[in-house]
Amino acid sequence: MPTKTIIEPFRIKSVEPIRWTTREQRKDLLRAAHYNLFLVRADDVLIDLLTDSGTGAMSTHQWAAVMEGDESYAGSRSFDRFKASVQDIFGYTHVIPTHQGRAAERILFHVMCKTGDVVPNNTHFDTTRANVEFVGAEAVDLLLPEARRPEARLPFKGNMDVAALDELIARVGRKRIPLAMLTVTNNSGGGQPVSMENARAVSAVCHKHGIPLYFDACRFAENAYFIKLREPGYSAKSPKEIAQEMFALGDGCTMSAKKDGMANIGGFLCTNDDILARQEQDLLILTEGYPTYGGLAGRDLEAVAVGLQEALEEDYLRYRIASTAYLGDHISEHGVPIVQPPGGHAIYLDAKAFLPHIPVDQFPGVALAAELYLEGGIRSVEIGSLMFAGAAQMELVRLAIPRRVYTQSHIDYVVEIILRVWEKRMQIRGMRLTYEAPFLRHFTAHLEPVSGSTAATE
Ligand SMILES: *Cc1c(COP(=O)(O)O)cnc(C)c1O
Repeated sequence: MPTKTIIEPFRIKSVEPIRWTTREQRKDLLRAAHYNLFLVRADDVLIDLLTDSGTGAMSTHQWAAVMEGDESYAGSRSFDRFKASVQDIFGYTHVIPTHQGRAAERILFHVMCKTGDVVPNNTHFDTTRANVEFVGAEAVDLLLPEARRPEARLPFKGNMDVAALDELIARVGRKRIPLAMLTVTNNSGGGQPVSMENARAVSAVCHKHGIPLYFDACRFAENAYFIKLREPGYSAKSPKEIAQEMFALGDGCTMSAKKDGMANIGGFLCTNDDILARQEQDLLILTEGYPTYGGLAGRDLEAVAVGLQEALEEDYLRYRIASTAYLGDHISEHGVPIVQPPGGHAIYLDAKAFLPHIPVDQFPGVALAAELYLEGGIRSVEIGSLMFAGAAQMELVRLAIPRRVYTQSHIDYVVEIILRVWEKRMQIRGMRLTYEAPFLRHFTAHLEPVSGSTAATE
């Protein structure tokens, strides 16, 4: 019988100290970083929830595989292991290693798209959108309208709007759509899963029109586990069987191994199309490296080969999904507004509802992220008006959970800090920009608290 308590399915063999700072120090550090947490040094952060990308802990099996890395330039044994592991899960004919996900995206869109083309996706991740737009094509997000409401609890809130896909194809014509993409899980949409039924419907529409379907597969294992838990007919299947079934619906994929590859770097591009594969490999040689390493060391290929399989282990996924939900549930039960239901890799605070007294042009998400750092040394990231300027749909603060890194007591601490900030939310002031770069401004922006009649935070 399964127990009520879900434990971390590992013990800890190597530890990395984390460093406390005092509130006084953090006040100075925040000011010196111009209230932008990207500009804070990692050593000055106690719990780092900036991203789950490349920040996970590798297993003993991965570290052992690293020692087996074959650093041969061509025909490396490590590439054979990498390819076998990828094909076991994804099933595609061609496997092209890249240094991370965005390199796979750049090569894919360069080869498949031209100016005036349109690429539909449930929601483009920011690098995916940027790479589509870089080749002159248009990136169209086809999320379900009800999924845009943070509080709406849908089991598969990452699904693509199939009717909208049909309508888009009818409107712009099949010739302008070189491929469609499905992002699993839907990162920008709150880490929300896509159902098998939806993937099947999207695949059917695409293939009826002869449009190839590619998966943005970064969190494929988390998505497979959500299907196992939530979709009728899948409870007896293993996460790997579910992933295999889903990828069989597509023609290829892009992948960042920094997510469900459980590695600190790496990625790949897959396709079943021989002609495209050749063009992609030519481009790979030009900027990434020879096709049997693609910008990675042999030891990185080994770490990914093992990591992809570990990400599909049920004990790991049970813990992974439960620990993210643990954070979400423990704050939302005290009234803290979050994107519901909790996603696979992150909890998103709804900063607009958290700080209703701060207007959107005073960056409520930035103000909330700064306060979490000041209160407890926690680093999160604003996903709202600072990141997306006028195009922001919501004002969110993302707390991304690195894989296998923090224990439940770390998360209990995060809960305590968030609830403390929640208690004094009305004292938090808005922010004003004092410097911004012409694009991707959130990485380097400078801000300061607005002065005014509201009580000062500090
Ligand atoms: C991280 C991510 C990417 C890009 O991968 P990188 O390894 O960061 O280049 C693409 N799509 C999604 C959904 C992601 O989460």
